[in-house]
Amino acid sequence: MKQTASTCCYCGVGCGVLIEHDGQHIHNVKGDPAHPANLGRLCSKGSTLHLTGDLAARALHPELRLGKSMARNRTDWDSALGHAAEVFARTIAEHGPDSVAFYISGQLLTEDYYSFNKLARALIGTNNIDSNSRLCMSSAVVGYKRSLGADAPPCSYEDIEQSNCLLIAGSNMAYAHPVLFRRLEAAREANPAQKVIVIDPRRTDTCDVADLHLPLRPGSDVALFHGLLHLLLENDHVDHDFINAHTDGFEALQALVQDYPPARVATLCDISEAELRQAAELIGKADSFLSLWCMGLNQSSAGSAKNNALINLHLATGQIGKVGAGPFSLTGQPNAMGGRETGSLSNLLPGHRDAANAEHRREVADYWGVAGLPEQPGLSAIELFEAVRDGRIKALWIACTNPAQSMPDQQLIHQALSLCPFVIVQEAFSTTETCHYADLLLPAASWGEKEGSVTNSERRISHVRPAIPAPGSARGDWDIVCDFARRLEQKLRPGQPSQFAFARPAELFDEYKGLTAGRDLDYSGLSHALIDGLGPQQWPFPAGSRQGTPRLYTDGRFATADGRAHFVAEAPRPLSEPADSSYPLVLNTGRLRDQWHGMSRTGTAAQLFGHVERAQLSMHPQDMQARALEDGDLVSLSSRRGTLILPVQADAQLRPGQSFLPMHWGNRFLKGLGSNRLTLSNHDPLSKQPELKQAAVEVTRA
Ligand code: SF4
Repeated sequence: MKQTASTCCYCGVGCGVLIEHDGQHIHNVKGDPAHPANLGRLCSKGSTLHLTGDLAARALHPELRLGKSMARNRTDWDSALGHAAEVFARTIAEHGPDSVAFYISGQLLTEDYYSFNKLARALIGTNNIDSNSRLCMSSAVVGYKRSLGADAPPCSYEDIEQSNCLLIAGSNMAYAHPVLFRRLEAAREANPAQKVIVIDPRRTDTCDVADLHLPLRPGSDVALFHGLLHLLLENDHVDHDFINAHTDGFEALQALVQDYPPARVATLCDISEAELRQAAELIGKADSFLSLWCMGLNQSSAGSAKNNALINLHLATGQIGKVGAGPFSLTGQPNAMGGRETGSLSNLLPGHRDAANAEHRREVADYWGVAGLPEQPGLSAIELFEAVRDGRIKALWIACTNPAQSMPDQQLIHQALSLCPFVIVQEAFSTTETCHYADLLLPAASWGEKEGSVTNSERRISHVRPAIPAPGSARGDWDIVCDFARRLEQKLRPGQPSQFAFARPAELFDEYKGLTAGRDLDYSGLSHALIDGLGPQQWPFPAGSRQGTPRLYTDGRFATADGRAHFVAEAPRPLSEPADSSYPLVLNTGRLRDQWHGMSRTGTAAQLFGHVERAQLSMHPQDMQARALEDGDLVSLSSRRGTLILPVQADAQLRPGQSFLPMHWGNRFLKGLGSNRLTLSNHDPLSKQPELKQAAVEVTRA
């Protein structure tokens, strides 16, 4: 048996795995004790990766149809990519570069992302390239950039062990980032003095480690953070020296939070004043204060404000840039960080640059040797699918993601996909809902078969290594993109040397890393070979470095133009769709312990259904009683966007008036377009991240 070191393909913890295989089949997976992220641990999902290789679920060969009413037929790569290049060239010639778009994924590797970005922005000349990271981390991106000057989580996983006080906000870390949660549990055992506060409307399993759980009213996070700052000021637990030396904008925030005294905040958040005061005491008296957050803050129409209100607490207390302290977003997907680094949101460019910044466009254009990059802003995920529905996008390339399940307001997405003249779906799994809409299906290599790099939540870059060949004629994502790009180059700029002549992922990495040089994330000193020698490394890692950087801003200098961090003073905003008399309950969506995203992979392993075997709605017993419902009853769960029929169960861990539905159930498991039939596409004005977490619903007996 052979053993290949790689990483888990699920969440942003980025655990190292050892793949046991015979060169053709994967037989087992173990945690890699040498990987700093997990030190040998794996969760239920990672440790069953070898059970998810069901070939019956895989896309094995390119398939093409020449009309919407026709079935797709197997074809070869030459015909498939030749046809795709023909359609893209014709569409661009007739309707302009912004008539095509790419919707890609936080599951892609950095080299895949880079090739897609270069294709879209340099060769085609459109910023219409967005990714499902828009649904995941874009509010954190805005939060970091507005406060600290760069999209750079400043902490390390080891800070979880070294902190005196942790605030976990909007994150069921026990399910969503289980290996990090195990590290936290171990830290609590080793250091009983460590304090943990959990902020979540639901009492999740994460609350089992909490000294204090604040079950706040959904959407009231900003008021809570302002109320905490009000008390930190009142108790003189702010660091005036740090504020004066390293920040701007405190006066405006100080004036704003005067309007958030404890009694008012307790009412706004529906918690007790005593709980609020206790949280402020724990934070204010801690030597080191670390906050961890995830989708509860990000997936909100006020996601940017929530991120900044939390970061404000760290700047006010000087709890950043030191051991055990700082604001630390937990990344949802395995390489959402790599996507942000390579510019894979429509408003970004590679190397943490902005598409709206003329100087940044010039730097990247010069690096790529093209005359310029497009000025027209690109479309974010929701806008992009609206443009598809409205006929403005005429050719759409979807890679490694399943928007026909994962996007909010599924009717909009299905309508858009059915109307789009040409849809390419590049996928490892043929079973996803989005594959149904593919005019051209391109089979992609998957975990254990592909090579490249990923960046995890703590900025650590790992080398993802293949163990076995991809099945059928599936290919690496970067390879498919570069092959297509070479064909499109011949049509758009014939006779010129190719800019996509890459033979290996390492060559893409080496070209891409030059775009990070001199930037906040500079990893120009890294290469696949260097990671093989030194192990996974945290950026920045400039040329000449011998080790990565565990913490940022340790000298009090931030990534802003003047080196000072900025307080952001914003008043809370209400939920986009609050409960009312027609839809009196709030529906919260979230993760299960043993499933991942749309279940295209975890849904192939029977044992991962042992924890929760079917889609069901959770409601508070009071709300069930008011509707004369009992466990197992079938109910109609309705929002303004549609209705689902499913069983209900009582859950006293919810607040009255709240209900919970796991996000994973698509149409295969929950007829009627799955959980996201009900969610809404309203999004944050800055991050454009949709409010997937909260929708107004009603429940009646079916
Ligand atoms: Fe994989 Fe995340 Fe589990 Fe680690 S914690 S094994 S990365 S799913």
